[in-house]
Amino acid sequence: MKAIVVRRFGEPEVMKLEEVPTPEVGASQVLVRIKAAGVNPVDTYIRSGIYPVKPDLPYTPGKDGAGVVEKVGEKVTKVKVGDRVFLSGSLTGTYAEMALCEEWQVHHLPERISFEQGAGIFIPYATAYRALFQKAKAKSGETVLIHGASGGVGIAAIQWGKKAGLKILGTAGSEEGKKLVAEQGADFVFDHSKENYLQEILEVADEGVPIILEMLANVNLMKDLDILAKHGRIVVIGSRGSLEFNPRATMTKDASIFGMSLFNASEVDMQEILNEIEKGLSEGFLNPVVGTAFPLEEAVEAHYQVIMKKAFGKIVLLP
Ligand code: NAP
Repeated sequence: MKAIVVRRFGEPEVMKLEEVPTPEVGASQVLVRIKAAGVNPVDTYIRSGIYPVKPDLPYTPGKDGAGVVEKVGEKVTKVKVGDRVFLSGSLTGTYAEMALCEEWQVHHLPERISFEQGAGIFIPYATAYRALFQKAKAKSGETVLIHGASGGVGIAAIQWGKKAGLKILGTAGSEEGKKLVAEQGADFVFDHSKENYLQEILEVADEGVPIILEMLANVNLMKDLDILAKHGRIVVIGSRGSLEFNPRATMTKDASIFGMSLFNASEVDMQEILNEIEKGLSEGFLNPVVGTAFPLEEAVEAHYQVIMKKAFGKIVLLP
């Protein structure tokens, strides 16, 4: 089968399309023919070698994907050959024609959700759910600022937030992104590349914003404290550097700042997340938005785009 293989950490060009052996299926395992693989920013951090948890080399990137069950081990009961599934991780990487998974990593994909959308489910929706409900403990009627709402996690957070009865303020940095955030149902949309946008946020949330989901904390964390309501909660989801920080700002607001990595979720928390995702997909209020699809051999370009281009939904790879 064909797969993207990384033999050393480094720039996007270290990803090469190679012919590799198709994995053998163990008793509790499932082989999935990948129809689409999701590209997440974390894939680029891992590939570059800066991520704290590094895979052994060589490896095939990709945590998210969707496809059709090709083979199952003799102990597998959850899925059968031919089922449409999305993945919550795999053993062998999703940037490939096939991915080997443990049974718990495969989940039924409803007919109404395309494979491309299915490749944009796990990391974005799980992260947004964990941030909103397991960290910030958001309750119906509260206001949330999704600081970076135009990307995979941001759009997922809008959809979860709408369903939970939250008032949603969302930001984006392009006209296209702002339009998407509005279409997804954000109550107010702001442009985080504009100088006075924090003032505009305070005009619609004059006591401050009780919950902020932060996608770029190294740029925004101090600013977030300026617009946070007293006793507010900030969840740091993304950060790409450091900043000068004045802790006094947390005291004035009695602020709580939660850091999170999805991969630290306990088994119980992860089960809740997966149950809620499956429910949201079948009830119809979760609908991943695909921005750009590249053929698998253009994984290099996809990695440049996910970091450098203005976000517009998910980037996916098609084997
Ligand atoms: P994405 O699809 O690439 O989206 C990035 C988002 O950040 C876009 O909405 C982008 O807006 C926004 N952004 C850019 N500049 C910003 C600024 N100055 N202020 C606020 N937002 C800004 O990425 P994603 O998948 O949504 O992930 C978002 C971040 O969370 C990434 O850093 C990712 O690594 C991280 N993440 C963390 C976890 C975790 O477990 N902690 C899990 C998943 C993702 P424009 O492009 O419109 O400017």
